[in-house]
Formats: sequence, C-alpha cells, structure tokens
Amino acid sequence: MDWNDTPEQAAFRSEVRAFLDARLPAHYRDHEARRHQDSGLENDWQQDLANGTPEDRTAAREWASALAERGWGQPHWPREYGGASMSTLEQFILKQEFARAEAPDIGGHLVGSTLLVHGTEEQKQRFLAPTLRGEMLWAQGFSEPGAGSDLGSLQCRAVRDGDEFVINGQKLWTSAGHKSNWIFGLFRTDPDAPKHRGITFMMLDATTPGVSVRPIISMGWEHATNETFYEDVRVPASQVVGDVNRGWYVGMTLLDYERSGINRAVAQQLLVDELVAHVRADTPSHRRELVRREVADRAIECEVLNNLCMRIASMHASGTIPNYEASMGKMYGSEVAQRVARTGTKAFGQFAQLWAPDDPYAPLKAKHTQNYCHTVVGTIAGGSSEIQRNIIATRGLGLPRG
Ligand SMILES: Cc1cc2nc3c(=O)[nH]c(=O)nc-3n(C[C@H](O)[C@H](O)[C@H](O)COP(=O)(O)OP(=O)(O)OC[C@H]3O[C@@H](n4cnc5c(N)ncnc54)[C@H](O)[C@@H]3O)c2cc1C
Repeated sequence: MDWNDTPEQAAFRSEVRAFLDARLPAHYRDHEARRHQDSGLENDWQQDLANGTPEDRTAAREWASALAERGWGQPHWPREYGGASMSTLEQFILKQEFARAEAPDIGGHLVGSTLLVHGTEEQKQRFLAPTLRGEMLWAQGFSEPGAGSDLGSLQCRAVRDGDEFVINGQKLWTSAGHKSNWIFGLFRTDPDAPKHRGITFMMLDATTPGVSVRPIISMGWEHATNETFYEDVRVPASQVVGDVNRGWYVGMTLLDYERSGINRAVAQQLLVDELVAHVRADTPSHRRELVRREVADRAIECEVLNNLCMRIASMHASGTIPNYEASMGKMYGSEVAQRVARTGTKAFGQFAQLWAPDDPYAPLKAKHTQNYCHTVVGTIAGGSSEIQRNIIATRGLGLPRG
C-alpha cells in the first residue's frame, strides 16, 4: 500500500503548514514555557478558555476564529454548521500537521459529531455554532462508580416531570468537568426496562443548581478528571438527544468517534524522534547501548501505529465504518505511549527521577518521566485494553464470547 501523498494531498499539506505558520497564536508555539510544572498539559484550548489568564483566553479565541474562517475547527462537519465538509484523507493530513505543530484541538468534537447524526435541527442550530466559538465547553458524563466497562449498568436516575427531567445520582471520571460549562451524559430513565433500553442521552448546563464537581488528582498530580454529583438537577426535555430510553445507541455513536483517534501516531513519533536525537548525542556508555535497541523498537512500533491509523482513515474515506479496527488503534496506541515513556525514562538513568520540567538536570524537560505517570490511564480511559481485546476477538477474529 502506498501511503505517500498524491500531488493534490501534498499541496493541501503545504497549505495547512502555511496556515499554521501564519495563524497559530504565539502563545501555542512556546511549548517549553507552556509545559505546566505538574500537570503535563501543554496546549489545552479548553483549559485556557475556562480557567486561563486574560492572555490565555485571548489566544484561545484567536485560534478559534482563525479555524472558523476555514471551517477547520471541526473539518468533517458540513459547511452549513461551521465545518469544512472535508474529505477523510484531507482531515487526516490536517490532523497530522496540527499534531506536528502541537496546535490544540478545539473541543466539542464528540458531542457535535453525535448531534449531527442524532440531533434535531433545532439542537444543531442551538449547540453547534457556540461550541465552535468556545462558548459551550463540554464534559462527558457516562461512567459511574458501578458502570465503566459495563456501561449499561449505569444508575444515575432522570425522572420526567412535565417538560423537564430531574436528575439524581453520581458520575465518575468526568474529564474536563472543571473546565466545562456543559455536560452530555447517559441517564437511567426507565429502571424496569432491560438495561440498555432504559437509558437516555441528555445535554445539561453544568451551572444548573444541584450539579457539583469534585476533583480527582492522578498519581502524576494531574487534575484531568472529576466526580460529578447531581441533586434534583432540572433539565429541559428539549435537551434530550434522540428518543427517550434509546440513548444507548446515541452513546455508542459517540464512542465510535472517541476511539477512532487517527492522529495519535504523530504525537508518539515526535517523542521518539526527540529521543533518538538525545540518545545519539549521549556519551557512549553501556546504558546507551542497551537503550538503543529499545528506541529502535519504539520507532518501529510508531510506524505500525501509523499504519493502523492510515487503515482507519482509508476505511472512513471509502465509506466503511471502522469497528474492531478502531479498537486496535486505541489499544495499540495507548500501549505504545506507555512503552515510549518507559523507554524514555530508561534512557535517562538516574536523571529520570527528576520531575520538574524547569530543573536544569531534567532531560527533555522531564517529559518522559511525567508521561510515565500520565500514560497509565490511557489503557483505561475510553474503554480499557481488555475490552478492546474482547472486541477484536469477537468482531475481528470471529471468536465466541467468553
Ligand atoms: C483518566 C480517565 C478519564 C476518563 N474520562 C472519562 C470521561 O470523561 N467520561 C466518562 O464517562 N468516563 C471516563 N472514564 C471512565 C472510563 O471509560 C472507565 O474507567 C473505563 O471504561 C473502565 O471502567 P471502570 O473504571 O469502571 O473499570 P471496570 O469496568 O470496573 O474494570 C476493571 C478491570 O476489569 C477489566 N474488565 C472489566 N470488564 C471486563 C471484561 N468483560 N473482560 C475482560 N476484562 C474486563 C477492565 O479491563 C479493568 O482492567 C475515564 C477514566 C479514566 C481513568
């Protein structure tokens, strides 16, 4: 298979690079300064808008407006809703180049793309444009203390009361809940129906009375996710997406978008390239010789990941919906990320124990040390590796369910 750009694709790639050179705000170019001491987060557009300084907010808005001029914020959305109606392979190129420049994605991709499939016209008009402008910032409320892999067991209850639903219960792992003003989620509306049939997908204003968000701090001191509590939270019925009690199918559309993640190869490739340069420049030693082979393995794995991502992109391009293929990309990509971080820390020996990016002795700004902690959750969030393996086994290999 030939993954090289056609002349048209090469021209488009140059156009994207020129756009990034001209329009990516300086704020998002200074990667070293943007590397937060403990969070590992660099270019986080949603964080800038929700909790940033006035300068952060200005940069985030400038970036959103530059993207809006071309519909490149959500390039696959139709033009009439602020997208660019872009072909899949162009989107892939765009995402590759954005990842190379470490240009931040703007949020709302999951809920917006799902609304395009299942939303009413009124919902599309009301929610899509403000999401593109960064006025509506979203968090995902699916998982609960007793419902993660087995999401169908969710219990957070929504009871109809006239034109509203009243929600009571708890969600867990609500990522970005502390930097969002809207939440989309799955709620139990019929406790007597078979478990996948009594669930409804709703969008709610996170500032509605009764919603509270409590941080979960990771072992790498990262505040990425939260617990959310709902106490008599009133949600207009007009904010239900799809039919009441049929939300499971809406939620599954959204998970397909979440797992496709076709640009994850570029981020790992950048890390490995940097590592290769570092190992080459290191003083010859026994450790360097040992780590050289591991770095080579990681470089090969990045190439494999790239091929998996290209396969997903070319399936989209030919109108086929990736299914177990998306699970392969998600599983492999998150596991490669963990291995890259591990190899990085091995390459630095004792210096890998330095955590602070601004420590003058911390190799590569402690990136691999921090990633060693931050990538642990990659094989859990968005569906664990075991669940992806089950999908590959049953849907991909046709093995019987265990
Ligand atoms: C950092 C982070 C961010 C997240 N962000 C969000 C978010 O924004 N919104 C949201 O709704 N959720 C989010 N999640 C939740 C995530 O989707 C769940 O954690 C995940 O699906 C696993 O569910 P669980 O934690 O309940 O573990 P469990 O489902 O209890 O799984 C425990 C272990 O058992 C294994 N296991 C379970 N079932 C099977 C099976 N059938 N076969 C084989 N092995 C199995 C799992 O692989 C895992 O190793 C996030 C999670 C993390 C860690």
